[in-house]
Formats: sequence, structure tokens, C-alpha cells
Amino acid sequence: MSIAKRLETIQAAITAAAVKYQRAPDAISLLAVSKRQTIQAIETAFQHGQLDFAENHVQEALGKMQEIKHPEIIWHFIGSIQSNKTKNIATHFQWVHSIDQYKIAERLNKQRPAHLPPLNVCLQINIDDEASKSGFKAAEILDVAKRIADLEHLKLRGLMCIPKPQTDPDKQRQPFAKLNALFKMLNRSGLQLDTLSMGMTADFDAAIAEGSTIVRIGTGIFGARLKGNTTSPH
Ligand SMILES: *Cc1c(COP(=O)(O)O)cnc(C)c1O
Repeated sequence: MSIAKRLETIQAAITAAAVKYQRAPDAISLLAVSKRQTIQAIETAFQHGQLDFAENHVQEALGKMQEIKHPEIIWHFIGSIQSNKTKNIATHFQWVHSIDQYKIAERLNKQRPAHLPPLNVCLQINIDDEASKSGFKAAEILDVAKRIADLEHLKLRGLMCIPKPQTDPDKQRQPFAKLNALFKMLNRSGLQLDTLSMGMTADFDAAIAEGSTIVRIGTGIFGARLKGNTTSPH
């Protein structure tokens, strides 16, 4: 299937899920996960109206940004963040979904260039408490969210999670419902969050059922990812 056709199919499925769960379709935005996809693939999606793209490796992303010069594109960082990469992330991205430590937020805040608007950030929650995954624990999130919300050059938008893979739709919904409950708790405590970044190709329907506002779709739009990196356009 072509990228254009896949994009159209995913958009239709998002709208159908919104209707099914009695939500406004325009309350859910589609983030195209372009990690390990070619520059040509990103260009094609852009030509078909996609503006939000997500990457998870800084070097790969910077290589793509040098080649793809559409100012309309909004770049999101969704990968794990090493301290020595925060400067480039703070400089070249508009969103970061994967903040998993206060000190990373602090560095991004310090390094966000003053001429740019605040960096939009989501806090990653280790929603299934998996030893192999990064993210804040649910129990510590209130305190850390308040501290991060106070950082001047960041705009705390919401929460993100990557649950354990599940195939049963009811089981898929459970971690998303937990993330939504945390989100509501934070808003009741005085924060003003508007983003639940949850749902990927295999589970976006369940995520939309539980209130997702950004679904992050890679293979569903672009097909299988390349093995190596995609920095070189040639
Ligand atoms: C790769 C990735 C995705 C997209 O996964 P697909 O299954 O290809 O849709 C979404 N979120 C994160 C954080 C990812 O790393």
C-alpha cells in the first residue's frame, strides 16, 4: 500500500474510533513516527498534509532536518534522552514526549534558546512498572509535574506512556485508563494539561477509547522500518 493510502486509512480509523467512543475527531491528532524511515517517505507524507513527525534518535533526526526544509513541519522527540543530547533536542524540536527524569527537564529548560517559544513537553510514565522501561512512577508524578510546570522555557502539556504489548482490546485499555486517571488527578491539583500522548499502530483504538489526544503511528503509515539509519538521502 502507498504511504498516501495508509495515511488516509489511519486518519479514517482515528475518526471512526472517535465517533465510536463519542469523542470529537479533531481532539485527536496524528503524530507520524518517522524514525528509521527515509527522507522520501517523510516528504511523501508531508505532501499529503501530514505536519507532525516524531523521531527517537537525535543524530538521525538532525540529518533529516537538514534535508527537509519545510518550516510547517513540527518535530517531536519521542526517544530516550541522554544528558549529552539535550542541547540539540532543546534547539531543534518543538515537542518532547519522553521526559523521564527531572534533571533532563532542567537541562532542556536551561538550553532552550531564548528566541524560541517554550518547548512543549510530556512526562513519560512507566505505566506497567516494567524494569526494562524508563519513565516516572505513578506515585512520584504529582511532585515532579509541579516542579517541571514551573520551568520557564518548558510548557508542560501532559503525559505519555508505552504500555506492554497486549493483543486483547480490554487489556490494551487498562494502562491507558490509568494514564488518563493520573492526568485528571494532575489537573484537579491545579495543573493545566491538555495532552495524553498514547496509542501506537497496534493499540490506538484502545488509546482513543481512553482519552488519547495524540496517537503516535509509525508502521501504520510508513510500513516496516529500515534496519540501519536513514541520515543519508542517497
Ligand atoms: C516507534 C514508536 C512508535 C510507533 O510505533 P508503531 O508501532 O510503528 O506505530 C510510537 N511511540 C514510540 C515512543 C516509539 O518509539
